[in-house]
Amino acid sequence: MIEMKSVNKWYGKTFQVLKDCSLSVAKGEVIVVCGPSGSGKSTLIKTVNGLEPINSGEITVAGTSITAKSTNLDRMRSKIGMVFQNFELFPHMNVTENIKLGQIKVLGRRPAEAETKALALLDRVGLAEQASKYPSQLSGGQQQRVAIARGLAMEPMAMLFDEPTSALDPEMINEVLDVMVGLAKDGMTMMVVTHEMGFARKVADRVVFMDHGEIVEDATSTDFFGSPRSERAQEFLSKIL
Ligand code: ADP
Ligand code: MG
Repeated sequence: MIEMKSVNKWYGKTFQVLKDCSLSVAKGEVIVVCGPSGSGKSTLIKTVNGLEPINSGEITVAGTSITAKSTNLDRMRSKIGMVFQNFELFPHMNVTENIKLGQIKVLGRRPAEAETKALALLDRVGLAEQASKYPSQLSGGQQQRVAIARGLAMEPMAMLFDEPTSALDPEMINEVLDVMVGLAKDGMTMMVVTHEMGFARKVADRVVFMDHGEIVEDATSTDFFGSPRSERAQEFLSKIL
């Protein structure tokens, strides 16, 4: 579903943020990306939907190149859901409107159909009661679940998550992770940047460990947690577990 081949990226002329990164994610697979702060995780995940351009290499999603000039990037992006650390809901729209907008503007659904879909998704993420509230009236965990529902409304081929629980109070982390576990069980292809190693152990098919712009390890979660090969991963795990 997602294929990255020898991806290189520089910020400016001198700083190489991604170094020869190759990775493939099969349909229905869940990949956790971890590593120290500044190692390039956010940049890597943003290249998958073209939010960050690359300097060389190749990225395809469901067989379509993200980097080819002929690709309609807006259309591709609408098929790859992205959930950020800070929710990024539209503050002036209520929860249902937030979930309807892309469906109407991008997919051309009729408002009534978009509404039905929005309400069904709100129910799926446990927020049926909050449908007419505004983002500011919700907790962080609830806002993040709305952001996930908004992504799902586009019927994405894959979902990308960049530290979706990092901005949340501890008591809200699980309500968001539970929704993500449900998605994984339903067969969604997911790439998740997270420090939640419990989630990685329980849900990830593979764990990718990055350091200084390189993919240092790409292992099954059993292997990664049981016997990380690199010293860098061992050191990282010893600090966070
Ligand atoms: P991570 O998500 O692993 O913390 P990032 O991908 O955010 O890492 O950043 C990797 C490195 O690239 C960091 O050193 C960061 O300071 C740098 N960086 C990130 N975005 C930019 C940018 N737009 N311009 C220049 N440097 C950047
Ligand atoms: Mg980051």
